[in-house]
Amino acid sequence: MSGASPLPPVSRQTVLNGMSVDVEDWFQVGAFEHVIARGEWDGLGRRVEANCDAILELFVAAGVKATFFTLGWVAERHPAMMRRIAEAGHEIASHGWDHKRVFTLGEAAFAEDIARAQGVLEQTSGTAVTGYRAPSFSIDARTPWAHEVLARHGYAYSSSVAPIVHDHYGWREAPRFAFRPVSGSSLIEVPVTTAEVAGRRMAAGGGGFFRLLPYALSRWAIERVNLRDGRPAVFYFHPWEIDPDQPRRADAPLRSRFRHYTNLGAMAGKLQRLLGAFSWGRMDAVVAAEAARLGAEGIAA
Ligand SMILES: [Zn+2]
Repeated sequence: MSGASPLPPVSRQTVLNGMSVDVEDWFQVGAFEHVIARGEWDGLGRRVEANCDAILELFVAAGVKATFFTLGWVAERHPAMMRRIAEAGHEIASHGWDHKRVFTLGEAAFAEDIARAQGVLEQTSGTAVTGYRAPSFSIDARTPWAHEVLARHGYAYSSSVAPIVHDHYGWREAPRFAFRPVSGSSLIEVPVTTAEVAGRRMAAGGGGFFRLLPYALSRWAIERVNLRDGRPAVFYFHPWEIDPDQPRRADAPLRSRFRHYTNLGAMAGKLQRLLGAFSWGRMDAVVAAEAARLGAEGIAA
């Protein structure tokens, strides 16, 4: 932007980044969907509640409030956990009912899925649910109706887009930062964080990038987003990622097993470092700041 006055200096601590947990159990991840059928879920030992309690302790120690994007299926079975999370000051948001990817659902089935999840999440937590994250970031070019359905159901924001190409997901053409995807609606989409290096985008908001690669890479990428782009990062992880004692599925593909089981024991320590290195908050707080930045842009009169 030549000709613009210089931007005030941004420090690592002045940008509020979004911290989020995608609350699902070890057997509900996309990588295992071909070896563990939904019908088997109720027969498997659930570990999500103990893992979420450990996460709550990590957040207390770091003084961080976060957003818990939770499956309706999990909330229905763990109502006391939902109340504990909400009472600790965290935001309860939706991760859909049972982790079906949005592009596998039609518009009507998607509407049913989010309505069912929202009802149970609000009932169990006693808080309003206005945020949504699609399972496996599955809102993309194949689902042009998805944001409109969210807006119609009263959602204020979505964090469901990965603006990159990945073997499981991705919407390459999507903006890297907050945008209003539905004309005439205030709904905001806040994509998961990417870092741009030499014109190429890489996923830098958590997942395998954080757990499998050295901590310094994630720290560098988030710092780059805060300082160079001057924008908030959106980070996510899962309860099963801090649980080295979870059951091992030998029948899953090697690639999935590698991704799922590597570095679980080191994850809590890595998260502690990350929580202390930046300023983190709930997604609704990040969305409020991004909404102020976007102003009325894109909202029809
Ligand atoms: Zn998920």
